[in-house]
Amino acid sequence: MLLIIKTVTELRKYLDRKSPSKIGFVPTMGALHDGHLTLVRESKDQTDLTVSSIFINPTQFNDPKDFAKYPKTIEQDIEKLESAGCDILYLPEVEDLYPGGILDLETFNLGSLENVYEGKFRPGHFQGVCLVMKRLLSAVQPHELFMGQKDYQQCMVVKELIGLENLSVNLHTVPTIREASGLAMSSRNLRLTPENREKAAALYSEMKNMATNLQPGNLKPITTPAQQKLESLGFTIDYFEFADEKTLE
Ligand code: AMP
Repeated sequence: MLLIIKTVTELRKYLDRKSPSKIGFVPTMGALHDGHLTLVRESKDQTDLTVSSIFINPTQFNDPKDFAKYPKTIEQDIEKLESAGCDILYLPEVEDLYPGGILDLETFNLGSLENVYEGKFRPGHFQGVCLVMKRLLSAVQPHELFMGQKDYQQCMVVKELIGLENLSVNLHTVPTIREASGLAMSSRNLRLTPENREKAAALYSEMKNMATNLQPGNLKPITTPAQQKLESLGFTIDYFEFADEKTLE
């Protein structure tokens, strides 16, 4: 049975009373797919009680149109969490996580992590991720946290936050779950036309091609044809690079 809890106060009351020895947490923004459910299953395998949250966090959207258009499928989400065996859905309103409003909030020192890739192209995004994660982690107080490798830089940011705030939670980074076409599952895929969804699969096939052809030395002969292929399909490329997995340099 999935228990739906809407406030931090009720969540704390329930968890303090039940006091499970190992709590697993899967934070999401909803419009759930098999990628999210894999994180839930992973948590169920490794913990005694799994909490998932659905909250479309306003502070992590730098583009108001993206926020307004973010897919919402709450009834199906509840069914999916139930069938995956999730124990608790924490489903807060904005006021519950941001009782003082969403302006003039604290900032986090993320160093250079914030100025590259998603950080560079979505200014303020990772500050918003830290704001919400700090609040969610304080509400749920999990022992184990499950997040997707699809959002690799986000995992790095959350790891940094855990260090900055001295939190005792283990972060598990779970491999990306893909459609049969190779396209990474993503809530925003719901916004693609069938034609663009098919084209988007090229992202993964080009990544795999590059990995196969990877050799020490100049990477341009590998990246240039891949970029050209994507551009010929209509992609506008923000960034397309090889990076060090520890530093993103
Ligand atoms: P979101 O709802 O997009 O904020 O994602 C919630 C969590 O699910 C994040 O930790 C994501 O990295 C993870 N996630 C999203 N898509 C996938 C996927 N295709 N495979 C594995 N994890 C995913």
